[in-house]
Amino acid sequence: MRLSRYFLPTLKDTPREAEIVSHRLMLRAGMMQQASAGIYSWLPLGFRVLKKIEQIVRDEQDAAGWQEVLMPTIQSADLWRESGRYDDYGKEMLRIKDRHDRDMLYGPTNEELITDIFRTHVRSYRELPGRLYHIQWKFRDEVRPRFGVMRGREFLMKDAYSFDVDFAAAKRAYNRQFVAYLRTFDRMGLKAIPMAADSGPIGGDMSHEFIILAETGESEVFCHKDWLSADAVPADVDYEADLQPVVDACLARYAATDEKHDPATCPVAEADLVRTRGIEVGHIFYFGTKYSDPMGARVAGSDGKEVTVHMGSYGVGVSRLVGGIIEASHDDAGIVWPEPVAPFKVGLVNLKVGDVACDSTAEALYAGFVNAGIEVLMDDREERPGPKLANMDLIGLPWQVVVGPRGIANGVVEVKNRKTGEREEMTPEAAMNRLA
Ligand code: ATP
Ligand code: MG
Ligand code: MG
Ligand code: MG
Repeated sequence: MRLSRYFLPTLKDTPREAEIVSHRLMLRAGMMQQASAGIYSWLPLGFRVLKKIEQIVRDEQDAAGWQEVLMPTIQSADLWRESGRYDDYGKEMLRIKDRHDRDMLYGPTNEELITDIFRTHVRSYRELPGRLYHIQWKFRDEVRPRFGVMRGREFLMKDAYSFDVDFAAAKRAYNRQFVAYLRTFDRMGLKAIPMAADSGPIGGDMSHEFIILAETGESEVFCHKDWLSADAVPADVDYEADLQPVVDACLARYAATDEKHDPATCPVAEADLVRTRGIEVGHIFYFGTKYSDPMGARVAGSDGKEVTVHMGSYGVGVSRLVGGIIEASHDDAGIVWPEPVAPFKVGLVNLKVGDVACDSTAEALYAGFVNAGIEVLMDDREERPGPKLANMDLIGLPWQVVVGPRGIANGVVEVKNRKTGEREEMTPEAAMNRLA
C-alpha cells in the first residue's frame, strides 16, 4: 500500500476528549472515528487490526473444535421472554419496535438465539457435543461509554456456546475454551490472566474472566507475582486430551478481581502479591440449564430418557482488544504493534521522494515486499523527513525500512525495529532477506 493513496487521517494534536492512551493513539493514528457516543467507524488502518485480531480468535476457536455461524444483530423479543431475560436485562438492552409494532432488540449477547437454533435441530445425545460460535456486533447501552472502543455501546464480540449432555462433558468444553483463550491472547502478544469470576446463581468455580494488566483498567486485580513471568500454553496443545491438568496448573497461581479477592483468605504472602488494575478481554461461563430449561432444549439420553442440556458461553471482546493491545504495547512516540496483529509488517519510508536513487531503491524494495507477500506500507509522500519518521513511529508498524540519500550513496538502507528501537544499516537485498 502506498501512503500517498491510503486513507490515513492522522492527527497532530492530542484529542482532548480521550482520557486514556489507547483512545488517544487510536484517534491520532487515524484508526477510527466516533460516530456517536460509544459508536465508532473503523477507518482502514484500524479495520486491518480489527480483522487480524478477529482472525486469530477464529483460528483458535476452530482449533478448539467450534464451528462458526453468523446470527443476526436484531433479535425478536419473544425468545427473551421465554428465558425471562427480556425484563431482567434492563436499560443496557436497546429495544426497538418494527412497523408492525413487534418488539425487537439489538442483541447484547446470544444465548437465547443459539438455544433456539439448538432445540430446533438436535434431538439426541448422539448429536452432542454442540459447539458453535460467531463473531458479531453487539449493542449494550452502557451508562458510561468511555475509553474509545474499550467500553463502546456497539462492539464486536466473539461469543461461543456449548451444549452437552451432562456436567462432566460441559466441563470438558469449558476446559477447551479455557486453553483456547490462553492461546488466543498469547498469539496477540498479551498476557491475559484467568481470574475467578462471579458464577451467579449456578455457583461452582466455572466462571473466569481473562484479564490483561493495565493501570488504566476498570477492575482492581490481585495476582501472584509469578504470573508476570509465567509461560504460555504450547501451540501444539491436544484438544482431544484431558485438559484438566493444564487448567489446574494455571489456576494454581493465584489471581482474582476485587469481586472475589478476600485479604483474609488470600493464600499469597503480602510480598508476593501484585495489586494492580486490569481489562476484561474475555469471559468464559458455565451456566448449567439456565437457558435450556426454560427454553426446552432437551435431548434423548443414552437410556432413552430426556435430559436438559448443560450449556456454557464464552465471550471475547474483539474490538476492545484493539484498545487493550495498545494499552499493553506503546511508548511515548506511539503504538508498538505486536507483529501478529500489526496492520502492516513493514513501513517503508522514502525520505526524499523525487530523488532518482531513493525512488528506484524504494520502488524496488516495495515490489520485493509485495511479491514476497509481506504487508508493506510505503511512505511515498512529498513531506519532510521528520514528520514522516514521527508518523511511522505513531502508527507503530513492527519494522521500518528507511531509504535516504545519505545511505543510498553508500549502498545501504536503515532497518529499524519499532519495539527495541534498534537500527541497523544494510544493503537493500539484506533488508529484504531480513524481513522476508
Ligand atoms: P464489562 O465487565 O467490561 O462490562 P461484561 O462482563 O459485561 O464486560 P461479558 O458479558 O462478559 O461482558 O461479554 C464478553 C466480553 O465482551 C467481555 O469480556 C469484554 O471483553 C467484551 N465487552 C463487554 N462489554 C463491552 C463493551 N461495552 N465494549 C467493548 N467490549 C465489551
Ligand atoms: Mg458489562
Ligand atoms: Mg465484567
Ligand atoms: Mg464478563
